[in-house]
Amino acid sequence: MYRILLKILKTGLLTEPFPPKPPDAPSPFLPVDRSLSIRHVDAGSCNACELELHAANGSYYAPERQGIRFVASPRHADLLLVTGPVTCHMEEALKDTHEAMASPKAVLAVGDCACNGGVFRGSPAVRNGVDGLFPGAAKISGCPPSPNDILAALKAMTRSDQEEPPASS
Ligand code: SF4
Repeated sequence: MYRILLKILKTGLLTEPFPPKPPDAPSPFLPVDRSLSIRHVDAGSCNACELELHAANGSYYAPERQGIRFVASPRHADLLLVTGPVTCHMEEALKDTHEAMASPKAVLAVGDCACNGGVFRGSPAVRNGVDGLFPGAAKISGCPPSPNDILAALKAMTRSDQEEPPASS
């Protein structure tokens, strides 16, 4: 037991530093200080965007250290994160989820499909992304976008005028 604790103390923090905020990142539009609760809805994705989301949310980047966390209920969320081209079947569920969220709230489309339909654009089975439903939604393009792109965008959506917390060792 003590040997394990000693090893943990000696090893320190091994997680990757958080990606820096890009200089051209949008100014924060959610009045949240260094914290963001996210409800993710897969609106017909091929699941590759989800794999990148899982990678971004894993212990390697550890976004919870930065106050970014995924929540199970839209009632607890500031941000609706959408992947997939918004299939006709998912349209109502997406609207209901957004309606269930308290204000202030925002929408972030992750991946080309959620931005504008991507490779499924024009199909009669999809709504070509979030534009028709949530005009003004923030977007991260890519098929799929990388965990770094996702995390940098998420961080840009929180207040950015504060210093990074000191890294624990
Ligand atoms: S953007 Fe690409 S990776 Fe993401 S759901 Fe669409 S096809 Fe899949």
